[in-house]
Amino acid sequence: MASTLVIVESPAKSKKIQQILGSNYVVKASVGHMRDLPQHDLGVDLETLKPTYEISPDKKAVVADLRKLVKRCPKVVLATDPDREGEAIAYHLRVALGLPADVERVSYQEVTESAIKKALANPSRIDTDLVAAQESRRVLDRLIGYLVSPALTKQAGINLSAGRVQSVAVRTVVDREREIESFKPRGYQSVTLALADYNLKAPLDLKPFVAEGERLWHPEQAKPFLGSQKVQLGRLTEKPSEVKPRPPFTTVTMQSAAGKLYGMSASQVMQAAQKLFEQGAITYHRTDSPNLSEEGIAKAQHYLQSQGLPIAQKVAKYKMKAGAQEAHEAVRPTDIALEVAGQTDSEKQLYKLIRERALLSVMPVGVDNVTKMTFVSERKVMNRDGDMVNPTFSISGRMMHEKGWRAYVQVEPISAEDKPLPKLTKGTLFSGMVTAKEEYTKPPSRYNEQSLIKALESAGIGRPSTYAAIMENIKGRKYIIPETGSKAKSPNFRPGKLGFYIVDALSEFQFMGYKYTRGVESSLDKVAAGKMGYLNIVRPVLQGLQEDIASRLKGGLLAENAPCPGCGQIVIQKTSNKGRGKSNVYWMHLDPGHADSCHKYLNDNAGSPSLPEPEQRAECPNCSKDVLRKKRADGGAFWVHADKSHVTACGHKYLDDRDGAPALKPKAKTEPCSECGAVLKRIYSRKKEHWLWVHDDNDNPECGSKFVDDVDGRPANAGQTAS
Ligand SMILES: [Zn+2]
Ligand SMILES: [Zn+2]
Ligand SMILES: [Zn+2]
Ligand SMILES: [Zn+2]
Repeated sequence: MASTLVIVESPAKSKKIQQILGSNYVVKASVGHMRDLPQHDLGVDLETLKPTYEISPDKKAVVADLRKLVKRCPKVVLATDPDREGEAIAYHLRVALGLPADVERVSYQEVTESAIKKALANPSRIDTDLVAAQESRRVLDRLIGYLVSPALTKQAGINLSAGRVQSVAVRTVVDREREIESFKPRGYQSVTLALADYNLKAPLDLKPFVAEGERLWHPEQAKPFLGSQKVQLGRLTEKPSEVKPRPPFTTVTMQSAAGKLYGMSASQVMQAAQKLFEQGAITYHRTDSPNLSEEGIAKAQHYLQSQGLPIAQKVAKYKMKAGAQEAHEAVRPTDIALEVAGQTDSEKQLYKLIRERALLSVMPVGVDNVTKMTFVSERKVMNRDGDMVNPTFSISGRMMHEKGWRAYVQVEPISAEDKPLPKLTKGTLFSGMVTAKEEYTKPPSRYNEQSLIKALESAGIGRPSTYAAIMENIKGRKYIIPETGSKAKSPNFRPGKLGFYIVDALSEFQFMGYKYTRGVESSLDKVAAGKMGYLNIVRPVLQGLQEDIASRLKGGLLAENAPCPGCGQIVIQKTSNKGRGKSNVYWMHLDPGHADSCHKYLNDNAGSPSLPEPEQRAECPNCSKDVLRKKRADGGAFWVHADKSHVTACGHKYLDDRDGAPALKPKAKTEPCSECGAVLKRIYSRKKEHWLWVHDDNDNPECGSKFVDDVDGRPANAGQTAS
C-alpha cells in the first residue's frame, strides 16, 4: 500500500515520476490550477481587494479524488513546477485539500531519477512570498482585463479586450507602424575611398565633420572630399578576437532560435518544450538564465571528452537580462549523451537545437583575426570646429583563425563570413579615388513574433513565460495581423484596425505606459522577495485604473451604426456566428433600454437596419391553433405552429403557403414497391428539384435502395414490372 502521495500539475509528469518512484508512492496530477478566480465574475472585492477563489467546475472530480487519497496516505508532498505559478498551484492544492500549512513542498529542475530523489530528500515549505507575487499578478491582470474590457466594448459597440501586458504588446506594434508610416526617406551622400591597385573600399569617417546622427545631406557637403587623391595607410591593427559559443537557451532565446530555424511560433515552441520537460528529456524550460548549472557543465564536458571532442579551458559566463526572475539554469538535455528525444517532429527538432546549444557552450572559443585599417587623405577639409583636417577612411576585415566550437555546428548554421582585406604595409602611400553615391535613410523594420518578444523582454514588459500566450491572444483577436504571402519563416506583424483602436482609446491609461509596466514588474519582484505586500501593489493600480476608466477613455463607436428606422436612436450592426462558416447579420439598439419601446432585433438589409416585418398569424386549417408565417431562404414561405407543443396533436409540423395563407400539405401519393412490396411515398426534393419516391418507414428496405426514381408520376421500378 502506497504511503506517500505526490501531487504534480500535469498527467504526463505524474506518469513519469510514478515510474521513477515506484509503488511506495502514488503520484497524481492536479491538471493545472484547481482553484482560480471565478470565470464570469470579477472575483475581487473592490473595497478590500480580497480575491475570491473557487474550485474550477471541471476540477471538482479531481479534487474529490485527491481528497480521498489524502485521507488514505499518511504523507503528502506537493511537487509542482519550480516557479511562481507552480508555487501558487501548490498553495491552492494545500487549501483545496485541507493540508496543513507546513505540508512538504519539493522542487526540481528536471524530471529525472536523481533530481526527483534529491528533491524528496530535501523538502521545504510553500514560499508564501512567491504565492503573493503570483496572486498580485493574477489580480492585476484580472482587474485590468475585467474592468477595462467592458468599458472598451461599450464604447466601441463591439467586443474588445484589454490586458495588462497584451495591450502594451499591441501598442508596441502600433507605435512601430506609425513610425514607419510617418517616416520620410531622406537622401544623403555616401562617400567612399577606392584604392587604385587593390579591391578595397573604405567609407569616410564622418565623425569630425557632422554632428552625432547627422549625415552629409547635400551633394555640396560631399564635394570637398571627392576626386583622385593620395592616401596613406596611417593605422593598421591586427588582433585576435574571441568568438564565444552561442549561449544555452533561456525561454526567450529558445523561442527566437526555433522560430528563425523552423518557423515555429512561440506557443508551438513552449508546447514542445513542455512535453520534453515532462518526458524528463530537458531541464525546466521556463527560465531567464543563459548559463548552465555546474552539474550541467560537468555532464556536457564529460560527454565531450568521452567522445574525444575538445572542451573549453574556461566555460563562458553569459550575462543575464536585468530583472531576470526565474534564474535557475539554462535549458539543457538531462542526458546530454542522448542524441534524439521527443515524440513529435517539432519535439525532436527542438531537442536537437537545445542539445547543440548546451554542448557547444562548453567547447573552446573560436578565434578570428580582426584587421582595422585607417587611410589618411592628403586633402584638407574643414571640420565641425572650423579647423582644416585630413579626412580619414576606415575599414575592418575579419578572418577565421581557429574554428573552435564552430567546427562542430550541425543544427544552427553560422551566418558570419570571412571578410578578407589585402595585405598592406603601414605608412605606404596609395593613389585613391573618392566618390559619392546618393543613398536613402531607411524606416525601422516591422516586428515579427520573435523580435516583438525580444523587444518586450528587453523593455522589461511582461514575463518570458507568458509571451507565447500573449502572442496567440493578440493574433487570435486580430489586434495584430501577421503579413500573409510573406516567404519569411516568421511573418512581420502589422496592427489590425482593432489594434489601432484599442491603443488610441487607452492612450492615456497608465497601464499602457512602457515605464509604468516595467515598474509593475519590478514591484512584483519585490513581492516575490518579501519586500512588498500585495495591497501595496494592487491598491494604487486599481485607483489609477478607476480614474482612467472614468475620465480618460478616448474614441467613439467602432461598430457600424445608423439611426433606428423605428425610433431614431442609434442601432449597431452585429454578427453572430451560425457555425459552418455561416453568419447572421442583424442590428440592435446601442442602448438596450430603447429596445423595450421599439424592437430588440432589427433585420439587416444590404448593410442598413430595417424593421422586422410584422408577424403574420393565422389559424391552422387542421387544428385551428395559431400558426406563424416564416420566410424561406429561397424567397418562398411556409407556416409553423406558434406553440410547438401543438404539433403532435395536429400532426402537421410544416404547412404550405398558398397565396399568403396556410394550407395543409397535399396528402402524399403512395404506391407499393415492385421489388419489395413496401409502401413508397412520392415526395418533392427541393434540392434536386424533381419528384422521387421513398420507402417511407424503412431506411434499409429489402430491395436495397431507399429512393426510387419518378417517371411520369409513378415509381420507376413499378413501371418496369408493368411493361
Ligand atoms: Zn428603435
Ligand atoms: Zn394544426
Ligand atoms: Zn398550447
Ligand atoms: Zn422496395
